[in-house]
Amino acid sequence: MKPGLLGVIGHPISHSVSPQMVNTALRHAGVDNILYIPVEVKPRDLEAFCRSAPLMNFIGFNVTIPHKVSIIKHLSRLDSSARQVGAVNVVKVVGDKLVGFNTDVLGVMSSIPSEVDGPVLVLGVGGAARAAAVALKRKGFEDLVFAGRRMKTVKEFEKFAESRGIRCRFVKMGSATMAEELRRCGLLINATPVGMYPKINETPLKTSFLHRRMTVFDMVYNPPKTRLLRAAKAIGAETVDGVKMLAAQGAEALKIWLGLEADRQVMERAALSALKGFRG
Ligand code: NAP
Repeated sequence: MKPGLLGVIGHPISHSVSPQMVNTALRHAGVDNILYIPVEVKPRDLEAFCRSAPLMNFIGFNVTIPHKVSIIKHLSRLDSSARQVGAVNVVKVVGDKLVGFNTDVLGVMSSIPSEVDGPVLVLGVGGAARAAAVALKRKGFEDLVFAGRRMKTVKEFEKFAESRGIRCRFVKMGSATMAEELRRCGLLINATPVGMYPKINETPLKTSFLHRRMTVFDMVYNPPKTRLLRAAKAIGAETVDGVKMLAAQGAEALKIWLGLEADRQVMERAALSALKGFRG
């Protein structure tokens, strides 16, 4: 393997567990001449970073908050997943050009069951919910409901879904209609940050709405066992945590950058161990 750099850019970036997760996967695969580093990039420095990445021998990098959409104007090309979601979480350096991808879609696809009895209810209408919408459509799910908090972002999501041919309904977060959808729902996806460190005692909905016929997938990965997932497990529902998605999207990125089939179990364990040491 040719030596070079990989990394993750964001602001702030010190909380990221990706360096530990990806470096462990690289060493496990016997790759010891590629290093994955966190790079603090403020919004005003994004263009300068993109221009210099090929000169600094970057093979590629992950993109996180707040650059997932704003980076698009600095890229030469987007692959179909990034075009569909309208956001980029992986960039590959090709010569002096940058190409954008979105591996969150495959991350969601590999975290959810293939079949679901009842509608799929997604909490949130932000970036992660968009990746979920594209993933659910690709998996062939047709009965999709999205719960939004503010009218403005629901309207934006509605436009997004329409332009991608994703048919779905909308309910207001916490409403009686949402409670009704919950009763029938076979898969519940939390695509809000509610429950994330440091507010680990919060849940996006009253846990009395959960039932054992549903699978509950929480995209929040810090902590891995959120209050929502603990409550779902306690009543006998299937649960999937955000670390599984984190490892899956990370493994897809390694495939794009290096053609490497990384060991996802190793990545999950490394992310869990990094999260244990996390103190904010
Ligand atoms: P985002 O674009 O900011 O969207 C967040 C959504 O949650 C918005 O619809 C927002 O509502 C809603 N929301 C925020 N706080 C809320 C609250 N207190 N009550 C109800 N709704 C609330 O964020 P994102 O990028 O989609 O990320 C969402 C979560 O997914 C984060 O925890 C992130 O870490 C996680 N994630 C995990 C992975 C993984 O690999 N596991 C990958 C991507 C994202 P408004 O529209 O009204 O603001």
